[in-house]
Amino acid sequence: MKPRILITKQLDQQVLNYLSSFCDYTVSEKLPREDLIEQIGEYDGLLTTKVKVDDELLVKAHQLKIVSNIAVGYDNYDVQAIKKHRIMATHTPEVLDETVADLVFAIVLASARRISELDEYVKKGEWNKDDEESLFGKDVYGATMGIVGLGRIGQKVARRATLGFGMNVIYHNRTKNKEVEEDLGIRYEELDSLLKQSDFVVLMTPLTKETLHLIGKREFDLMKRDSIFINCARGQVIDQQALIKALKEKQIAGAGLDVFEKEPIDKDNELLKMKNVLTLPHIGSATKKTRLAMQMLAAENIVAGLTGNKPQNLISELKMDF
Ligand code: NAP
Repeated sequence: MKPRILITKQLDQQVLNYLSSFCDYTVSEKLPREDLIEQIGEYDGLLTTKVKVDDELLVKAHQLKIVSNIAVGYDNYDVQAIKKHRIMATHTPEVLDETVADLVFAIVLASARRISELDEYVKKGEWNKDDEESLFGKDVYGATMGIVGLGRIGQKVARRATLGFGMNVIYHNRTKNKEVEEDLGIRYEELDSLLKQSDFVVLMTPLTKETLHLIGKREFDLMKRDSIFINCARGQVIDQQALIKALKEKQIAGAGLDVFEKEPIDKDNELLKMKNVLTLPHIGSATKKTRLAMQMLAAENIVAGLTGNKPQNLISELKMDF
């Protein structure tokens, strides 16, 4: 008998065809959590994006061997619970790096030159050349970019910034990366020092217990008054209320956000009323080619786990366990 997997998101037909050679699958989008908990005991694998994989789910997952995320971030995994239940857990690193870095750069440029605000302005029939200064933006070329979280994606952003835009790039991680420093001519800084120097602060860490609200009031207060803050990581890595306050009090000049504390963001959220805030619906990896590559990699990971092989992309916390 083939192993059975539950898929919580509609996948490309190519991916389903591949999966069907190895497993029997059920696609169930928007399955209420209580139904998921009730049904999970029938499955050997779970292929998902946002489902919370925790003890409450895993105690019912009597035959589950592997959970495979179609995303690089895995803050939906309770890693301790996954370890306790000895289940494999994977994600999809690398295949999305360039696509997400493109989006970060689109946000940097659009925020600096107020692209979405001025597009709306022209479409409203306005064209005030007598007061040109009111249309001025901020230079990207030659400015200082501070990247908090210089991992796979952060490095691709740094490459664009240094080679393409002559930017002075500084970064902060828990560990220094000498190789990338030498390769790209970038410099390590402690977080406070990075925030004080940067014209653009780009946040690209995972969401973990340690990074929850990493950037709050104290950190916004350290930033330059003409700086632009960009978050393409996860909404909860920042204190969103502190960001709103920093923007209102003109502690920083603007923000570009692909992610929010709560998604979708509430329609009456103050961020949506601010002209100097660019907002996107969490689309970092959203191109056809990249989303297909992520789905295929997630499918390969789950097949490996269910056919007695070590999946290529076990999350780092489990690398020694299997
Ligand atoms: P990665 O390669 O693991 O890089 C993460 C970086 O963050 C590493 O350099 C890590 O360095 C640093 N970091 C981790 N904890 C930190 C801490 N407490 N303080 C400072 N730095 C810390 O991950 P990635 O593939 O680049 O992806 C990063 C995140 O981007 C994902 O986890 C996901 O949440 C998000 N993402 C969002 C989208 C989107 O659609 N907007 C798309 C893809 C990814 P150290 O370990 O040395 O600290």
